[in-house]
Amino acid sequence: MPDKKWVYAFDEVGEAEEAVGGSWDAARGLLGGKGANLGEMTRLGVPVPPGFTVTTEACNAYVSGDEAFPEGMWDQVTAALAKVEEKTGKTFGDPTNPLLVSCRSGAKFSMPGMMDTVLNIGLNDEVVEGLAALTNDPRFAYDSYRRLIQMFGSVVLGAADEGFEEVLTEAREAAGVTDDAHLSVDALKQIVVRFKEIAVDFPETPIDQLRLATEAVFKSWSGKRAVDYRNAAGIPHDLGTAVNVQTMVFGNMGEDSATGVAMSRDGSTGENSIEGDWLVNAQGEDVVAGIRATKPIAQLADEMPDVYQQFSDICHRLENHYREMQDLEFTVERGKLWLLQTRDGKRTAQAAVRIAVDLVEDGLISKEEAVQRVSPEQIDFFLHPQLDLAARSAAADEGNLIATGLNVSPGAAVGVIAFDADKAVEMAEAGDKVILVRPETKPDDVHGMLAAEGIVTSRGGRTSHAALVARQFGKPAVVGIAALDIDLDARTMEIDGRVVAEGEWLSIDGTLGEVYYGKIDTVVPDISDRWLSSLLDWADGFRRLGVRANADYPVDAERARAYGAQGIGLCRTEHMFFEAERLPIVQRMIMTEDSEVRRQALDELLPYQREDFYGLFKAMDGLPVIIRLIDPPLHEFLPSFEVLTVEIANLKIRLASGDGDATALQAELAEKEQVRDRVEVLHEANPMLGLRGVRLGIIIPELPKMQVRAIFEAACAAQKEGTKVIPEVMIPLSSHVNELRRLKAVLTKEAEAVMAEQGVEVEYMMGTMVETPRAALTAAQLAEEAEFFSFGTNDLTQTTFAISRDDAEAGFLMEYIKQGILPENPFASIDADGVGRLIQLAVKEGRATRPGLEVGICGEHGGDPKSITLCHGYGLDYVSCSPFRVPVARLAAAQAALNDKS
Ligand code: PEP
Ligand code: MG
Repeated sequence: MPDKKWVYAFDEVGEAEEAVGGSWDAARGLLGGKGANLGEMTRLGVPVPPGFTVTTEACNAYVSGDEAFPEGMWDQVTAALAKVEEKTGKTFGDPTNPLLVSCRSGAKFSMPGMMDTVLNIGLNDEVVEGLAALTNDPRFAYDSYRRLIQMFGSVVLGAADEGFEEVLTEAREAAGVTDDAHLSVDALKQIVVRFKEIAVDFPETPIDQLRLATEAVFKSWSGKRAVDYRNAAGIPHDLGTAVNVQTMVFGNMGEDSATGVAMSRDGSTGENSIEGDWLVNAQGEDVVAGIRATKPIAQLADEMPDVYQQFSDICHRLENHYREMQDLEFTVERGKLWLLQTRDGKRTAQAAVRIAVDLVEDGLISKEEAVQRVSPEQIDFFLHPQLDLAARSAAADEGNLIATGLNVSPGAAVGVIAFDADKAVEMAEAGDKVILVRPETKPDDVHGMLAAEGIVTSRGGRTSHAALVARQFGKPAVVGIAALDIDLDARTMEIDGRVVAEGEWLSIDGTLGEVYYGKIDTVVPDISDRWLSSLLDWADGFRRLGVRANADYPVDAERARAYGAQGIGLCRTEHMFFEAERLPIVQRMIMTEDSEVRRQALDELLPYQREDFYGLFKAMDGLPVIIRLIDPPLHEFLPSFEVLTVEIANLKIRLASGDGDATALQAELAEKEQVRDRVEVLHEANPMLGLRGVRLGIIIPELPKMQVRAIFEAACAAQKEGTKVIPEVMIPLSSHVNELRRLKAVLTKEAEAVMAEQGVEVEYMMGTMVETPRAALTAAQLAEEAEFFSFGTNDLTQTTFAISRDDAEAGFLMEYIKQGILPENPFASIDADGVGRLIQLAVKEGRATRPGLEVGICGEHGGDPKSITLCHGYGLDYVSCSPFRVPVARLAAAQAALNDKS
């Protein structure tokens, strides 16, 4: 393809856009995010050093071919370079007026630090002398040269970083300085010589430098750390990276030069104020690597007021143009401001919400866009644990607040210390919660950061690698704790004289930037954030799906309601049976075969259940409450056969050896044997497929009858007090309409009897869970009896796949997912092809029998964003999930509706 255009100058961004059909998104695909934005800034008149972009298509051709540039590409590069020479009036490789360029990666989606960059290309032994003479600054020239050799050496030639760092450290020690900026020209010349001994193949010819650097960037797309990052961030592997070649400008040309990175809004809180770090007389990587202590951006306003003003204007201009918060890189070369990069800024979940809402209030984006811009995972983050206030102050009083640093990623994390990424992964795999503690993080550490609960570093600023990655993955992090001294050999860290070893507990508060020694309790915060409520209110206006909560107790119901639930989709009544004072009564009820004894036990349980339901009705005044009748097999309420057998054996031994009062031991033994015999009778080989759900109600009708009595006595009482009650009684695990018909008749009679006794008419429905394939397949028949359906997708998944929900996740299922046999865990996200089709069929056929049939879902999938999208498509009326997931579900349901083009 000799005629194909592989290279676009920054001022040809319009052409690139046209070449891919005029869409900005496609242009970003072709030029990469960085290249497209450099082009766009050039088009907007923002000062950008001239340069050009080699397309992602060229990268794909290179990596998928045999690592050869596609035909015509290199000629286009040299032609574009000639144009840059023309624009800048400088010449590549000319010692009398040299053009230096950078060569940077830039994929469609930003992958901070994952791929390669080489700066100062164009210097060699001759050009460096020219540059020194031209700038009258040999220190600057040789510093730039040693940086080129160092970067070229490590990035292109694969020499280890440590070798270069050692030379620098020795030079600093020999000169008695702590900072590279104070090394003399002679020292730098020496360093250049020694660096060349490490980077032996360093090419003197500038065009060879550029060619090899371009190849290195292309290759870095397929490097391990880039591949790992893409896997973690869900970025496709076939996008390729572009290469941006750009005129170098220098922030290290003296006290009127500087370099920095900044966000147009605060990336941690979302506040509308520029946030960033910068350094006088430095080059870009000095800021990002976090090796030198940076200055906050506010100080730029004091030290270089004109530059700051110009920069702040550009921030606003770019934000308005992109209608999004920007992350910018800038350099000041002898008082002149240059923008080197802009991209959408990474942010914390809190900031994402606040920025989206503020941009609507600023008139820049619509409410629909705001709702689309925040991910359900980010909403989830609001409900992340925070350190318990009281426990935190107690820890502080005990002197356990050991450090404070920058609060770069909020939330609390508690875990044991790991001092390197591999160790963090190893410990996490062994089941530990881990805090990764590092001097600073690098792209090679990402796997450890992902495995850790939280991250602590002793160096680095708000925009350091550690901060960016932690925010992106929602890991709480505290960075830049200068007082923290980590000894990687001894596997300890020292802070203010206190030594803490690997494996000891730390608790970190990424919201405040605090690090505590020890393990502090965490609590889940409430979500009364004004920005979050606005966003969720808007989401409510767009969604069609209702959102209910699975809640068993009034306090859960209250929380669910505060989080925006529109009813209870599932109250699992059996949970209440396990409470200490109730369990003996439940056991008595199960143990007996005497109907009178059973009736008495049930009479004792009735007031407890009535009170539970009364509380639920009160909390959900005006909203529907689905109460599911008892579901699990009865043996679950009794001790296990194995435990009883051991206890009985022990009692017999004690009796035989005269250990204890014989009469008491005899009595205890008799009781245990009785329970064991009953457990044996109730034992089933497959209890999940046994006497449970509707079947239990048919065999022991007194039990669900008691529950229905409790429901209606509570409903009548609440309604008499003026509460609007909307009970929906749900029968679990139906497979055949006859089961439902039989039990429903018994229960309806009981409900009517209670209402007659109470002299109150309560509007109610009786429905069923659809959680077996047969129920779904015969939905048309079930709907003759059921006034509503609720999909129990936990059981429906179990029974459709014939995979045990209790065992599989600890066993082969994860192996299936690892091997790609199943695309994902069907207990987490609805299996659209199997379970999903059963749901679709049941909805359609159920509604054919009973138009307007209410259908919802109450399995765990009800809180999973992907499944919520499916449920929207299936035409369900609502999803029901845990109270904590309700805000997530509200947003996901809105996004499903907004994405629904049908
Ligand atoms: C289900 O099966 O999806 C369900 C909600 O019921 P449980 O989890 O209680 O069996
Ligand atoms: Mg179930």
